[in-house]
Order: sequence, then structure tokens, then C-alpha cells
Amino acid sequence: MNISFTPLKEWGLPVRKVFLAAGPCSAESEEQVVETARKLVAGGISLFRAGIWKPRTYPGSFEGVGGEGLRWLARVREEFGFPIGVEVASPEHVEACLKHKVDVLWIGARTTPNPFAVQALADALKGVDIPVFVKNPVNPDLDLWLGAIERLNNAGIKKIGVIHRGFSTTRKVLYRNAPDWRIPIELKRQVPGIPMLCDPSHICGKKELLFSVAQEALDLLYDGLMIEVHIDPEKALSDSRQQITPEQFLNLIDRLTIKREASDDSEFQTRIKELRLEVDSIDEHLIRLIGKRMEIVRKMGDIKRKKNISTLQPQRWLEILASRQDMGKEYNLSEEFIFQLFQSVHEEAIRHQEEEGG
Ligand code: PEP
Ligand code: MN
Repeated sequence: MNISFTPLKEWGLPVRKVFLAAGPCSAESEEQVVETARKLVAGGISLFRAGIWKPRTYPGSFEGVGGEGLRWLARVREEFGFPIGVEVASPEHVEACLKHKVDVLWIGARTTPNPFAVQALADALKGVDIPVFVKNPVNPDLDLWLGAIERLNNAGIKKIGVIHRGFSTTRKVLYRNAPDWRIPIELKRQVPGIPMLCDPSHICGKKELLFSVAQEALDLLYDGLMIEVHIDPEKALSDSRQQITPEQFLNLIDRLTIKREASDDSEFQTRIKELRLEVDSIDEHLIRLIGKRMEIVRKMGDIKRKKNISTLQPQRWLEILASRQDMGKEYNLSEEFIFQLFQSVHEEAIRHQEEEGG
């Protein structure tokens, strides 16, 4: 994908070890915003975030304080020196933010999937040199995410980054939004080096899970985190369960371990090389075995075809899945993983059986 972007360290924002964006889900009052910021001073954050216009699922919920909140954020920048960031969903939002000298904009997960809205934002941003983060679309669709990035990039936005905040799902999962790490990892593969933050708050939906998701993001070499912080989370007017106090935030970032991609320690290098060779050899076996499995499956396809028997055998598929999930337990392989794995194997098997002469 042809996206030309400025590396995060050249955005002119203060980054200590990793990029940290923190602040309330919503700006609610001048006092709430200013006191949250005051308590974040020790955190060395790169960006103070707050939602001013809130895209709520149901009407009648708190939909943000609107333009008035921008003045409170301007005060935060003045008093504490934090760059400030706001979600924008329309050209009017962009105009108001530019007027109040907001430093960073982001496009929310409900706006990214709408090409009309993203194009309108891109048009409003033509000729403006402001950093913009694009949150993933609510639905697990990498192309919509990439398309939104491309629209902004075409409008001349070079300080462009992404925020992974998880995806809506009908599957029963632990999280409010399924992380589906493979999607941001694939985005990283297609646009290497694009600044990428993780938003554990919207992935988790509850504060107890924040640390593990934040650490996982750092393990996957994300450039930073966006975390919702509220002076009094229980009283928050939006996303109350996932917000943490400034003290909890300071404690959380303190416990995180920052990872590097490589080490020049020779003992480490030797050992990792040996282990990688073992993994390579196991992968070779795996592929050979799967190839053999497909050969047998093709034979089944032949005899099924001759007798007009369906390729899909629903009962057999249920049995395979259940027994493999059971076997997986012995090796601490999750049911979800075995499901994904065997779903792929099964799909490939069906393809082999359907192939003419297969
Ligand atoms: C937010 O950051 O408060 C927000 C509304 O997030 P998202 O767009 O990820 O739902
Ligand atoms: Mn929120």
C-alpha cells in the first residue's frame, strides 16, 4: 500500500519511552478535565485526550459537551504543556478544533467505516499540517481501515497513525471489543512502520483487563497506548467501567515492560537461533502432514463423488472439532485456537475435495 507518512518521532510531540495518550473518555466539566490533567503530570504523557462530541449508541445518552469543552482543553495545554487530542467526525468538528489549536485529531471507530464521512474529513483537512490518528472501524474490515488512511493521506496528511481499539463481534468474548490482533498485524505488514497505538480501554471495556492488553500491545511492538483516565471513574458520564484514575494509570504504566525488536547479546542470539531452527523444522513437518492429510481427503472426495455423497458432513465436522478441542487441552491450546485452526484446515479440505479430478 502506498502511504507516505512521517515517523512518529518526527511529529514534534513529546515521547518518552512509548507514546502515551491519556485522558477522559469525555470532557464533562472544566474542573474534571483540569484536575485529571493535573494528576497526569507525573505520567510524562505525549497527548491529553478527551472526547468533546461523543458518538453514543442510543440517543438520550450523554453526547458530549460540544465546542465549549475545547476551551477547557486549551487551558490544559496552557497550564500543563500537554498537547491535546480530540475525536472529530465532521468538517464542523475539524473547523472548531483548528480554531482552538487542538494538536492532534483522531477519527473514531464509528466514523472510519463510512467513506463519505472520512472523505468529508479529508477534504476539510486539505492543506492542514496536523497529526491524525485513524481508529480501526468497529467491524473487522482491514480494507475500510486502509481506505480511510489512504483518503487522508491523499489529502496531504503525512503525520498519520492508527489506533487499534478492537472490533465488534457476535462471538462470546472476554472483551468489549475483540482484539483480533491479526488485523493490526496485517496492517503493519502492508504499511510497515506506520505509527500504531493500542487503545486497551475500548478493547477491554473493564479496567481489570487493561494491563494484560496494554502489555500484549507492547510485546507486539506497538508505538504506544491510548488509555482512558478519569478523575472519578464511577461517576463518569460515558465508559465508566473501563476508565481508571490518574493514580491507577501511573501505576499501570510503571508496571509495563517496553520491548525491543532485537538484541546484540550473543548468548541470546545463539539460543534464539537454535530455537528458531527447531520451530522451522516443526513447521516443515506440519506442512508435510497437512499435505498428506489433504491427499487422503482427496481420496475421500473421489469416493463421495462416485456415490453422490455430500462433501460437507456436518456430523463428522462436529465430531472432529470436539475431539480436537479436547486433545488441544492437554497442550494448553485454547478452544478458540483449535476452532480457528481446524476451520481453516476443514475449508482447505473442502476445496481439495471440490477440485475436479481431485
Ligand atoms: C473514544 O475514544 O472515546 C471512543 C468513542 O472510541 P471509539 O471510537 O474507539 O469507540
Ligand atoms: Mn470512550
